[in-house]
Amino acid sequence: MTNSPNPATPGPNGAPPPAGPSHFIRDIILDDLKTGKYGGRVHTRFPPEPNGYLHIGHAKSICLNFGLAAEFGGKTNVRFDDTNPCKEETEYVESIIDNVRWLGLDWEDRLFYASDYFDQLYEWAVQLIKAGKAYVCDLTADEVRQYRGTLTEPGKESPYRNRSVEENLDLFERMRAGEFPDGARTLRAKVDMASANLNMRDPVMYRILHAEHHRTGDKWCIYPMYDYTHGQSDSIERITHSICTLEFEDHRPLYDWYVEQLGIYHPQQIEFDRLNLTYTLLSKRKLLELVDGGYVRGWDDPRMPTLSGIRRRGYTPEAIRTFCANIGVSKTNGSTELSLLEYYVREDLNRRAARVMAVLRPLRLVVDNYPEGLVEEMDAVNNPEDESAGARKVPFSRVLYIERDDFREDPPKQYFRLSPGREVRLRYGYFVTCSGVVKDEKGEVVEVHCTHDPATRGGNAPPDGRKVKSTIHWVSAAHALDAEVRLYDTLFLKENPGETEEGQEFTANLNPASLEILANAKLEPSLAGAGPGSRYQFERLGYFCADPDSTPGKLVFNRTVALRDAWARIEKREKGK
Ligand code: ATP
Ligand code: MG
Repeated sequence: MTNSPNPATPGPNGAPPPAGPSHFIRDIILDDLKTGKYGGRVHTRFPPEPNGYLHIGHAKSICLNFGLAAEFGGKTNVRFDDTNPCKEETEYVESIIDNVRWLGLDWEDRLFYASDYFDQLYEWAVQLIKAGKAYVCDLTADEVRQYRGTLTEPGKESPYRNRSVEENLDLFERMRAGEFPDGARTLRAKVDMASANLNMRDPVMYRILHAEHHRTGDKWCIYPMYDYTHGQSDSIERITHSICTLEFEDHRPLYDWYVEQLGIYHPQQIEFDRLNLTYTLLSKRKLLELVDGGYVRGWDDPRMPTLSGIRRRGYTPEAIRTFCANIGVSKTNGSTELSLLEYYVREDLNRRAARVMAVLRPLRLVVDNYPEGLVEEMDAVNNPEDESAGARKVPFSRVLYIERDDFREDPPKQYFRLSPGREVRLRYGYFVTCSGVVKDEKGEVVEVHCTHDPATRGGNAPPDGRKVKSTIHWVSAAHALDAEVRLYDTLFLKENPGETEEGQEFTANLNPASLEILANAKLEPSLAGAGPGSRYQFERLGYFCADPDSTPGKLVFNRTVALRDAWARIEKREKGK
């Protein structure tokens, strides 16, 4: 599924996400509002499990939940579905809170934890036992799996299925009291071992786990399963539309069964398609492997599709929200082009990023007829897209840096940049004509010489109307700031990085050249003091964002996105093979 770009104006932080095309979930809500199904209420929630950092796929869910509630005057909760003490950590909780806030969405005072409902869930389990709807089972995990059957064969009933209510109550109480080791017993729902839906074949409700929980400490040694927790948590919070991804469609009958058996408030679950992005993996488990395996520098590595990563890279919350509002919501999983995400990032940055000049791979350019010691402050426009951004002064002097790529001693046919005898425009500077080069002992050009035409000050055409075919950027050597610039390519070489050859790990698809570090970049002096997170367009090179690794002596910049789209880059790479 590819959607044509439909740029909407993003709202400021805190405002509802930008409007996008309508979709079936919105239609369901409109219908429910008409029939008064929930008394006109719209209450959604975003329910992350704190077992990793949020990624751009989660942003789709966040924007959808908050967006729908905002549109209909409703509310959205954030709830941590923290039922697995072994994989969950406070670090993840904190990063999730920070990321949802950064996206600009506000849950007000409605931040919840499923673990806050453990007492209630336990009482409900007792209620189900008393109603003959749940039993303690002594089968091991392996045996439970064997008894479950397959898609084509019905399951077999557990020999413990018909224990008396009294015995079940006693055993469950003792499970809770810590009398049994991990895995010795489970509490299971008594549903239907012959059901065509495997989720309904007496699913486990509670397991014994003598493990510390990040919130409840050692209060519990039995923990409710996600499937027993999720629906009731929605019920407790009186969620109206419980929106989740398609893989939960088969779980819905079980969630419905629990709330019906318990006779409690019944939210409506609606499933939508997960976001998949080309050249990107969106799975917390796999992202954790990349972090633990040292394939990236951490969860916030700018190559990661995590919100922390793309934020460090320089993506804006507004761009992400506009992207999410426009990718569509459907009932079939598809794949969205990475270039579409980059399109929205570029659109947004084009509006807000100040233009500056930076040279990534410097080559000295000496203007031989420019007076030694003279410095002229040239006028430069900050953002042609935004007049209110004003102008700045850029120093021009006799020795400059230009991009190595912008000079060729032996220019190919379509090459119009600087070469011996050729005249070009230095942006905001002068027209200059190349007069010669200096080479090192290996024959490599280390310095280019030129003369300028004083009648072209500011980079304006001379009175004789002479034209040049190319404009290049530059930085005055004496005034330049040193910087490290990090360029990124896709983390994976394959469009679908999950697809691997026999016996290969997904890490085999990693792009060995996803990070290129340019340690000797030169920046115009107006960038002094650029704080981490500040965003610029380096003219002709792309959008860049100052990294937290910056020090007063050396700025570090990440390239957020190049000026042309990823396709051009990918095509070039494919051709080069
Ligand atoms: P992952 O598969 O990356 O581990 P998850 O589904 O296990 O993700 P949760 O913390 O359970 O992660 O997800 C919280 C919410 O975000 C859920 O409602 C889930 O459906 C939704 N979500 C997760 N991944 C995506 C995605 N790629 N696109 C849209 N929504 C997603
Ligand atoms: Mg999950």
